[in-house]
Amino acid sequence: MTQPIPDDHAPPDPAGEGWPRLHPTTQAAYNRILWNRGLSKSEVAAKLGLSRTRMTAIGRDLQAAGLVAEGGRQQRSSTGRPADVLVARTDLFHFLGVHIRAGELVAVGIDLANEVVWERRRRIGDLDASVVGSCCRAWLAEAGTSGLRVAALAVCGSTERIDGAPEGVGLYAVAPDAARSAWQREFGVPVWAEDDVVALTAFEQWPRLAEGQDSLALISHGREIGFGLVADRKIIVGAHRRAGRFAHVRVASDGTSCPRGHRGCLWGESSWEAVVGDVPGARTPAEVFDRAEAGDRRARARLVRAARGMGVAAGHILNLLDPDKVILTGGSPSLLDAYPEDFEEGVRSVHTAEEPPLIEVTVFDTFEWARAAAGLALYRRLTASEL
Ligand SMILES: [Zn+2]
Repeated sequence: MTQPIPDDHAPPDPAGEGWPRLHPTTQAAYNRILWNRGLSKSEVAAKLGLSRTRMTAIGRDLQAAGLVAEGGRQQRSSTGRPADVLVARTDLFHFLGVHIRAGELVAVGIDLANEVVWERRRRIGDLDASVVGSCCRAWLAEAGTSGLRVAALAVCGSTERIDGAPEGVGLYAVAPDAARSAWQREFGVPVWAEDDVVALTAFEQWPRLAEGQDSLALISHGREIGFGLVADRKIIVGAHRRAGRFAHVRVASDGTSCPRGHRGCLWGESSWEAVVGDVPGARTPAEVFDRAEAGDRRARARLVRAARGMGVAAGHILNLLDPDKVILTGGSPSLLDAYPEDFEEGVRSVHTAEEPPLIEVTVFDTFEWARAAAGLALYRRLTASEL
């Protein structure tokens, strides 16, 4: 969503109902203060290359908008001297994330410090745009009654196939652009509808911006395999919102065919659907692990192949993007815990740099997908003009 950029010297709108309209530089200054949990004016000026006069005006504007407060004199490691610090008021606005699964919608509200302050779950029968819209409408009203001041909303789910939904029912089937625009007009706040892997990527990237982490690749492993990418601090969604579809890259020279007819693709080698389908009698990934542990060589060999395939895919991403970090999530923790050497061998088989890459493994539950959606709303709202 784009807004007209206010005049450079005009004071921002006071914090009314929604997020105040700020000049991009003022927004950038605010973001630095927020990410660092407090900065002196000279530290903000140094980070953004601003003059002292300009920074004084920006500090005044941010205080007038109620977004920052004086934090008192604090010793600063950047200069070794004490300085007056500006701190962001993190309880002023909230961001709502809704994660869509067939049968259930989960909502989370976070504050500006990225802390969860509110959550709801609702079982649903049918899943369509009117159900999603009416849940969002009810939750926005409830959040308001609970004292939240919602500045943006993000609705997330798999764009390829909503969890538990039939083949072909992705996020845009239940939150199409026309509905999203209508909700935005009706609710009076920006509304984003994006792939949940993109949301998870925003959630992981946002807190790291203060540390100078400019790039990230996130690989979500499960029944499907999704990729979230950040480069130069921008979340890459692609010209047609189809970036990150890398699940059918070739990772093995043999292997069985995937439903699309590829031999040795990542999906066919490593997705849980393919792995479970290849182990006779197994119905879940946990059962495949149990069999492997009990000495079933076929189950073990299948998991080794899955871990290696994930490694090869990670290696290709490292070669292509050279990100600060790769994060593996979803089913990755169990797979990588059990078969770390096979994963690493997969990475090494294609990764051409000599230094070992920075790879992190994290666990998310269903609730955290909604939290990630809220994180996406925060990220998108606060970087809408800056990035
Ligand atoms: Zn394939």
